[in-house]
Amino acid sequence: MKKFFKYLLYTVLGLFLLLAVLLAGFIYKVKNGFPVSYETEKPAINFPAKQPAVLLFSKTTGFRHGEAIEASKGMFSDLAQKNQWFLHETEDGGVFNAEQLAQFGAVIFNNSTGRVLNPEQQKALEDYVENGGCLIGIHGAGDDSHHWDWYEKNLPGAQFSHHPIAHQLQETAVNLQPLGDSLLWNGLADKWKHTDEWYVFFDDPLQKGFTGVYAIDGEAIDPSGNLLWIKNKNFGMGPVHPVAWFKKTGEGRTFYTSMGHTGTTFKQAEFIKLMENALTWGLQ
Ligand SMILES: [Zn+2]
Repeated sequence: MKKFFKYLLYTVLGLFLLLAVLLAGFIYKVKNGFPVSYETEKPAINFPAKQPAVLLFSKTTGFRHGEAIEASKGMFSDLAQKNQWFLHETEDGGVFNAEQLAQFGAVIFNNSTGRVLNPEQQKALEDYVENGGCLIGIHGAGDDSHHWDWYEKNLPGAQFSHHPIAHQLQETAVNLQPLGDSLLWNGLADKWKHTDEWYVFFDDPLQKGFTGVYAIDGEAIDPSGNLLWIKNKNFGMGPVHPVAWFKKTGEGRTFYTSMGHTGTTFKQAEFIKLMENALTWGLQ
């Protein structure tokens, strides 16, 4: 009998240890990206002549929004067909070289998380944007797993704090902000209901040179991401809580939306229109 309890105790301790290791591994991956591997070979791409090209980059080494990424491919493929854009969807970082980037009118970090590019590839993207290219980020592209100063400063423009945990997904009204760019605002819905994982940032990107496209009422959601071991979070961005914003970056453009956690987002007409406008504006 004594032996039985000894084995039981070891089993419970072992399971507890395993859970602790798995949880620590998950948190590390979400915060830093793992495993990190870089593709350095230039892929073969046949760019059609006289067709604006869009690079849809869905590589993740941090948290993977698998369902959202899959759903987004269908949405972007439909938009490309409708607008006669050439869409290149990939998770291969080898495409981030000056020569091939120059062929694209816009690059989308599609829920791309973690460390996905090596320093030369990062520099190639920075130069591409500063010299007139367009970089668009969706949801996870704005979390804090990228560890890349230029990127954080110019794409989300704000440091990610957390997402709500007790009420991870919440439905609320998304409100169009005062006109900032007619091409971007063209035909956007004034107000719509949307369910998402509402990201909270430490800073307000609108105070840092960005213009808001859509905002929610930050006081109408429960922003709490409170966990025992997570402290010093920002628990409110106020009544104007931006969820889509843009700015001119060098000669180019950057646009980010914190929406896009779920697959259904990419089937919602108002969100699809926002993405269509962001690309039309980016490709101009
Ligand atoms: Zn998410």
